[in-house]
Amino acid sequence: MAGNGVLLEKQVSINRNISAKNAAVTWDDPAVALTTARHEFGEHGGVNMSIEASATFTVMEPKTMNKMFAGELGPSQDFFIYSRHFNPTVMNLSRQIAALEGTEAAYCTSSGMAAISSVLMQLCNSGGHVVASSSLYGGTHALLNHFLPRVCNITTSFVDIRDHEMVKEAIVKGRTNVLYMESMSNPTLTVANIPELCRIAHDKGVKVVVDNTFTPMVLSPARLGADVVVHSVSKYISGGGDIIAGAVCGPASLVSSMMDLHQGALMLLGPTMNAKVAFELSERIPHLGLRMKEHCNRALVFATRMKKLGLKVIYVGLEEHPDHTLLKSMANQNYGFGGIICVDMETQEKADCLMNRLQNCTQFGLMAVSLGYYETLMSCSGSSTSSEMNEEEKKIAGISGGLIRMSIGYNGTLEQRWSQFERALSGIHDGDFSKN
Ligand SMILES: *Cc1c(COP(=O)(O)O)cnc(C)c1O
Repeated sequence: MAGNGVLLEKQVSINRNISAKNAAVTWDDPAVALTTARHEFGEHGGVNMSIEASATFTVMEPKTMNKMFAGELGPSQDFFIYSRHFNPTVMNLSRQIAALEGTEAAYCTSSGMAAISSVLMQLCNSGGHVVASSSLYGGTHALLNHFLPRVCNITTSFVDIRDHEMVKEAIVKGRTNVLYMESMSNPTLTVANIPELCRIAHDKGVKVVVDNTFTPMVLSPARLGADVVVHSVSKYISGGGDIIAGAVCGPASLVSSMMDLHQGALMLLGPTMNAKVAFELSERIPHLGLRMKEHCNRALVFATRMKKLGLKVIYVGLEEHPDHTLLKSMANQNYGFGGIICVDMETQEKADCLMNRLQNCTQFGLMAVSLGYYETLMSCSGSSTSSEMNEEEKKIAGISGGLIRMSIGYNGTLEQRWSQFERALSGIHDGDFSKN
């Protein structure tokens, strides 16, 4: 036991060293930042931490309980009350994710949507206002467009996030609480100019929340000025396609306000992450950088070759992409341009035919929503993840019926995968869409 009991000797000395290192370190690579996160050892000296699979925690003396509830003793001194509040294993993962994003603190949630909805409810009061990009994950769009106005009287103005005049005009001084965007937006791969948008928002006293699900390691929005970074950990950070999870990264004051016993969205709405899930995820963080590099590397090679074949491909790594230079100017070195490619087959019929061949004839990938898996995942955005949007909204966001989003995987070899793609494509170029 730590605060509530005895702290492992090794833990103390290692963490003292890490605190000293943290104070001195400046980084330009998130992989470096990750090594500064406190390394938690197991109860018996294990290289990995023990899973603190307890809902509740005991104390040595009755007075300790009073002090914990009065806020005099807390998780930063290793004193824990109850796992909907803070849990040591979830905190360990949260420290890793805070280090990854370069924020003072973070806390993990049961899903990406839990992180997004909780942070918006924490930062906005009833009657509050959000300015948000019109090109957003379908669930976030629905939350802002339908749920928050109905339940909390929080309304949203949707803007083209590339149009900075429009963003400025949409901000209502004294009423707008949050400017919300995705660092790279689903599914059209628009990149937000985070430093410039932060300047605009901060000028008007508005907080900036960035969903960095598409570009962990590649972009560090908090280091570009964002106040809060949210993640669907279910995607790249997990990488296994097996877990639903989320994270909120930001100042320690935000995380503690979200955990407040009387006013905290995480404490009171309770979208808690399970300690066993947190443990599994914390074991995957050390190889996130390696995985991202390979996702990005293959995406760039495939996008370049697809374009050569005459396909209409959207990829930020291609120089012709309108946000190519912008992403380059913001990105951390050596990770690339993200692992998502969109191929516009123009009609849903052609898109369906290609996906069918890619899955069922050549085994290039799987038809499934989501991203960040080691296998390539393919979906038609218009009829799946963005189906919450109506035709008009899809048109504004640039989502055509034949747009296939591919989350490029890294298993198998690059050349093996490419030949699978070519074989599938040559079939439909013969012009018979019905024959698979
Ligand atoms: C998947 C996703 C979400 C929602 O996350 P869940 O973990 O599924 O709740 C939010 N934002 C983006 C960009 C996503 O891709």
